[in-house]
Amino acid sequence: MNGVRLVIVVPCYNEEEVLKETTRQLSNVLARMEKEEKIAEGKILYVDDGSKDLTWSLIEQLSESDRYVGGLKLAHNVGHQQALWAGLELVAGSDYDAAVSIDADLQDDVNAIIEMVDYFLQGVDVVFGVRRERKTDTFFKKHTAQLFYKLMSTMGGEIVYNHADFRLMSKRSLKALVAFPERNLFLRGMVCLLGYTTASVYYDRKERFAGESKYPFTKMLNFALDGITSFSVKPLRLITTSGLIFMMVSFFAIIYALVEFISGDVIRGWTSLLISVWFIGGAILTAVGIIGEYIGKIYKEVKRRPRYLIEKEVNL
Ligand code: UDP
Ligand code: MG
Repeated sequence: MNGVRLVIVVPCYNEEEVLKETTRQLSNVLARMEKEEKIAEGKILYVDDGSKDLTWSLIEQLSESDRYVGGLKLAHNVGHQQALWAGLELVAGSDYDAAVSIDADLQDDVNAIIEMVDYFLQGVDVVFGVRRERKTDTFFKKHTAQLFYKLMSTMGGEIVYNHADFRLMSKRSLKALVAFPERNLFLRGMVCLLGYTTASVYYDRKERFAGESKYPFTKMLNFALDGITSFSVKPLRLITTSGLIFMMVSFFAIIYALVEFISGDVIRGWTSLLISVWFIGGAILTAVGIIGEYIGKIYKEVKRRPRYLIEKEVNL
């Protein structure tokens, strides 16, 4: 293959502190690949996800000073996954050949993009960026992440271990991806459903260049739960089986209570009574909650609201 045209899609939410450096590093990588004739043309596509700081005016400035930079401004904040989708959809409908998605904060190694393109040139459709180790993550983040990957795979949702949304996708895999009609996006899982040839490149994840994480604990937890319920109905099955187990156990408890009653012993223990009431109450609430999660998803899907609205674009 000769003359590859590559877009790097970067979703940004309040990233004014990092964008200059991100542009510098990504431009360097593109220029280097151009020089080595790996690509014929390169573009950095910033998707401003309704930022409240100076992110957009910075993107406009950068697009004047740097020939690679283009930008898309979404009308309001729709979240990382949807913002990334907006960028990927644009590339899928353009005459570019491939897209790399990367976060704005330079935690992922920009040099890994070159390796990704090498794989692409060999005909691979999807190249995953995989974190080699999580030295810079806190103990807590490392372990909750591990737990999530385990839970996800036991629930039957296939994802690549330690891969987030740093990946290269060929044009045809992008087209296949954006044909998915679902509104609940969990891209790293959806990409695994495509079935095209894949490869992985490994890199060390760094500390955020500047600014703060836009994924605080609650958002992370929501994202994880969303991922599981988007990809598996096993939690529903779990409710059924645990309900059956509760019923069986209580059946034996009833027999025991009857025997005690007939033999004239007074049944002791308000405590056990109270505990089981609370326990069953909790179990029922959890069950209703899990069912509710799925109903919520159906609700969101049937409304078919637009995923995002574009307000402005620059240099595209
Ligand atoms: N992001 C976004 N919209 C949001 C939240 C985050 O576009 O509502 C972007 C953010 O600017 C960054 C990427 O998603 O480029 C990942 O966010 P972050 O680095 O804060 O997450 P973390 O690496 O801490 O999980
Ligand atoms: Mg980050």
